[in-house]
Amino acid sequence: SGPQPGPLADPLTDTPGPAAVNGSFFGHPRGLSTLFFTEMWERFSYYGMRAFLILYMVHVLGFDDKHAGSVYGTYTASVWGAAIIGGIIADRWLGQYKSVLFGGIIIALGHFTLAFHALPFFYTGLGLIVLGTGLLKPNVSGIVGSLYTPEDTRRDAGFSLFYMGINLGAALGPLIAGYLAQRVDWHVGFACAGVGMTFGVIQYVAGRKHLQPAVDRLEQQRREARAAAAVRKEAARTSKPTEPTFGGFTRVEWKRLAAMAVFFVFAAVFWGAYEQAGSTLNLFGDRYTRTSILGVSFPSSWFLSVQAVFVIVLSPAFAWLWLRLKEREPSTPAKFAIGLFFIGLSFVLLLLPAFHLQDSPGIRVSPFWLIGCYFIQELGELSISPVGLSVFTKLSPVKIVGFMLGVWFLADSLGNKVAGYAAGFISSAPLPELFGTVAAVCLGSSFIAFLMIKPVRRLMGGIH
Ligand code: GLN
Repeated sequence: SGPQPGPLADPLTDTPGPAAVNGSFFGHPRGLSTLFFTEMWERFSYYGMRAFLILYMVHVLGFDDKHAGSVYGTYTASVWGAAIIGGIIADRWLGQYKSVLFGGIIIALGHFTLAFHALPFFYTGLGLIVLGTGLLKPNVSGIVGSLYTPEDTRRDAGFSLFYMGINLGAALGPLIAGYLAQRVDWHVGFACAGVGMTFGVIQYVAGRKHLQPAVDRLEQQRREARAAAAVRKEAARTSKPTEPTFGGFTRVEWKRLAAMAVFFVFAAVFWGAYEQAGSTLNLFGDRYTRTSILGVSFPSSWFLSVQAVFVIVLSPAFAWLWLRLKEREPSTPAKFAIGLFFIGLSFVLLLLPAFHLQDSPGIRVSPFWLIGCYFIQELGELSISPVGLSVFTKLSPVKIVGFMLGVWFLADSLGNKVAGYAAGFISSAPLPELFGTVAAVCLGSSFIAFLMIKPVRRLMGGIH
């Protein structure tokens, strides 16, 4: 039998005694606070650095837009893509606790490497961040899930709090690291991201004991999964399977996998537009937008915190809305269609300043165009991102759920590569054409997604 749960013996009832010594975090297991701040600092470093990465390439390294966009796309796509490998490494080998620890250290080293100017440092630093994020990102969420017993109803609320941590980091990173990079020294900006990740690692190690129950539970799950696999193998050897299967999955499972394939494609399109915040729209902010409001000037990388600020502000409103709508709450496929509609609409809005810039070259447009655009994008993100994550955990056959979460992140990976590619056209194609193309692709996909609501719901086989 597995080890008994650690000091926070019963997170369900929060019994006094050891649990009271550990305290709690907004009514959640104390370990959630440790993971909240680990991920907050990790996202601080990731989004802080991403806020000026493409600007550094064009202004300091002298890359042209196409090359900078391509490197940006490959780097960000690799960061998200590496999550699949990091999940497997944790499951098979390192375990979740150490994967997050090593990941965090490698990420910090990556940012510190970027603080040196020469080009080999640049690529080595990016490579380290890819490796480290692959190890950290999927597994920190995995530990969050294991803070709760399967019956614990606080789990969803726990993930919502955790998502706040993500976006708090994503909002602060560009403000602080971006400011240092653009106003003080680019390399100080990179170092700042490294310092943030270091805080995260120290805090994670210091909070180790609060994670013990979750780590024990994960260890036990791994043991049970191995035992179950052995039993299945034995059963398959001695008797015929009772249910007809193909490739190890039942008919219902195959249908759900097909539904996930549809969600994957729509999500990739969505992220392809959304992630242009770091690429195309970052250059748009740097080159064509006034960077002052009411006489107060700010570095253009500050635009990169706007999406995250809107997530924080709008998340509670969305939670309220879905509750309020009750049985009229849109289905998951409908939310994907709505999300694609809003992301398309956000680029339609940008057509106005784009035409204006075409008529009067040399001017800079109001910062409120970008801010308004990000507001509309968030109506889309909040319809797709949390919903997609949760539906992937529900639709996936149990034995491959970790892998399927990696697949969910892979949609963001593809989107990032597309976003980098699009940025390459910012100076070679007319702006209305560039933004118009993005808008048309998203609105077209939204239209198709609306048509597919019914068939996809059938594929989902009773899961919402
Ligand atoms: N923006 C969020 C993050 O950085 C979620 C992105 C996603 O789910 N693909 O974690």
